[in-house]
Amino acid sequence: MESELKNSIYKVLEDGNFIMGKEVNDLESELASFINVKHCVSCANGTDALQLALMAMDIGPRDYVFAPTFTFFSTAEAISLVGARPVFVDIKADTFNIDVDKLVTKIEMIKKEGHALPKAIISVDLFGLPANYPELASIAKKYNIKLIEDAAQGLGGEINKEIAGSFGDIATTSFFPAKPLGCYGDGGALFTNNDHYAQTLRSLRVHGKGSSKYDNQRIGMNSRLDTIQAAILLVKLKIFKEEVNLRNEIAKKYYRSLSSNKNFRLPIIPNGYKSVWAQYSLLADSNEDRNNIMQKLKSKNIPTVVYYQKPLHLQSAYAHLDYIEGDFPVSEEISNRIFSIPMSPYLSKDDLDEIIKALNSV
Ligand SMILES: *Cc1c(COP(=O)(O)O)cnc(C)c1O
Repeated sequence: MESELKNSIYKVLEDGNFIMGKEVNDLESELASFINVKHCVSCANGTDALQLALMAMDIGPRDYVFAPTFTFFSTAEAISLVGARPVFVDIKADTFNIDVDKLVTKIEMIKKEGHALPKAIISVDLFGLPANYPELASIAKKYNIKLIEDAAQGLGGEINKEIAGSFGDIATTSFFPAKPLGCYGDGGALFTNNDHYAQTLRSLRVHGKGSSKYDNQRIGMNSRLDTIQAAILLVKLKIFKEEVNLRNEIAKKYYRSLSSNKNFRLPIIPNGYKSVWAQYSLLADSNEDRNNIMQKLKSKNIPTVVYYQKPLHLQSAYAHLDYIEGDFPVSEEISNRIFSIPMSPYLSKDDLDEIIKALNSV
């Protein structure tokens, strides 16, 4: 694998086509067939991917876009970057993904107010678990709202054998090194079955180009995937399925060894769903318990991280939206109690045993 990676990178150095080289095209077709969608359009990172998706849908000022408040900042940031307004929605306590009932309530409320147009939903596959796309798709259809899947953490997950990255009108992902399918720098991609969106996205990522980049048909971005990153991803994609299986093996081992421990709740995977385990997150009983457990693990050199400390509606960047504490009680509660333990396809058996032992001795 390592020599294959080096050869693949070296070939790009020899060819010298650092921007939009052959590997970029190759990767797009490999990814499209892996995800089983008609089009894959690569871009510079997962945040740009979200922004490009919104731009392709002509979403802008005066438009409202729904997003969960418990996610990485990018999900909402992209909405603000196109001038639209994020409308936050609480999550489900079991899956940590957007609560579809609360989403419907919000949509109804905004329609009744009547001064803005609800245009799109961005749902996030948090920690690698796909959101409830069967329900989300029917809500999007009923209210004539576009659906975007933010699969930055969820690429390759499944709902009844349908693969994450294929849900919604457009799906987006990130190849940031810490994501399940990571490259050695920044990278991102969009997936769609819609020919018009694909064509628009290919234009938008290169300054809104028409027949050339000096023929500009729309305001776009400069957002391309580097050829070197594509060359790396082509090699890594070959073992991605295997890596997802390894992650699921580790999750199984965690489940078997920790499920009787009453100090925390383990992740819940609904029937028919498969997670890619971008994170393995536990829920402690209280904020104090969470901090104690993390401290104990730290003393044994076991790293833990809190995703996410603060829901987006309480970030100072969104103070102008006038949300207050208490608006989204589930997200607020979970951000106080959640923490993630090590998860990687290459976690050794010894390390795994040590983590489990430490957690069970808290
Ligand atoms: C990482 C991430 C992004 C952004 O991806 P970048 O490549 O870092 O820009 C967007 N949404 C979610 C949910 C993410 O985890």
